[in-house]
Amino acid sequence: MESANTLTSTVKARIEAAGSDTELRAIEREYLEKGGVVAGLLAAVPSLPGPERPAAGRAANQLKLEIAAALGAARERLASADLDQERSSAGFDASLPAQHSPRGSLHPIVQLTRELSDLFHSMGFLVLDGPEVETDEHNFEALNIPRDHPARDMQDTFRCDPEGKLVLRTHTSAVQVRAMRQLKPPMRAIVPGKVFRQETTDASHEHTFHQMEGIVIDKDITVAHLISTMKVLLRGVFGREIEVRLRPGYFPFVEPGFELDARCPFCKSGCSVCKQSTWIELLPCGMIHPNVLRSSGIDPETWGGFAFGLGLSRLVMLRFQIDDVRHLLGGDLRFLEQFS
Ligand SMILES: [Zn+2]
Repeated sequence: MESANTLTSTVKARIEAAGSDTELRAIEREYLEKGGVVAGLLAAVPSLPGPERPAAGRAANQLKLEIAAALGAARERLASADLDQERSSAGFDASLPAQHSPRGSLHPIVQLTRELSDLFHSMGFLVLDGPEVETDEHNFEALNIPRDHPARDMQDTFRCDPEGKLVLRTHTSAVQVRAMRQLKPPMRAIVPGKVFRQETTDASHEHTFHQMEGIVIDKDITVAHLISTMKVLLRGVFGREIEVRLRPGYFPFVEPGFELDARCPFCKSGCSVCKQSTWIELLPCGMIHPNVLRSSGIDPETWGGFAFGLGLSRLVMLRFQIDDVRHLLGGDLRFLEQFS
């Protein structure tokens, strides 16, 4: 026991004085490893008189633990001294401000598209995509838009070939036709995407903007399904219940057709967003016209449904209170950085 006690203080002093890992390793080998001092002490225990053995064994084990702990602490001390040395030689100064690394952010249209896709996906809708260059047939003919309809006016549509067979799609409804022809009813789908109109641009008109088409085809679908879907949509966008109303509207691909208005989310008694009316025109919608179903090979006697064409750009403007549609695709980083 005596030798164990003296040894403890001697070894600790040596460890504290050690200036390198090599020295520590030598001490470790001398004391703790096979054939070392501690092993020698433990081997001598059986030769002691019986009553002294337990205490001597404990003392030898205690010595072993203390040396190990002291070695661990000394290694940490050496490592942190190394680090300090390295930092000061590299001119490292922990008090300097961090370097700014710029981060990108999602465009507000992408943000809303993703939110709405999640929302509709949770209600069992497919999220579909389609070509931006469309055939005249998908964009107009199959949607019950006859040759003389104003929507086909050369002023509105970008045509891609002299015969006028290909157009830049003027609405995402074109994908509705593709969906009805490829998928079998019952079906629910939304189609977010870019559309194009030949327009003179101003604060509320842009030649390229975003829409989100929605269709539901099933048995016994009524206007009530349409209204409740629109209310879920508005709750998702504005985070609370918003009153809606339907007004009659004419669109060739629906019968009956409606204009759906939402109660202005920004005021109680009129503001510039709702033009003092407390209602905001939100989207055209209606029950899908039997001719449209028939043109896609769906029997209107069995199946019915509704469709809506949400102005995604307009909704983004309402949601983020943006006053000029041209900001959306203007590519100005000062505008875009506000949405990070
Ligand atoms: Zn208002």
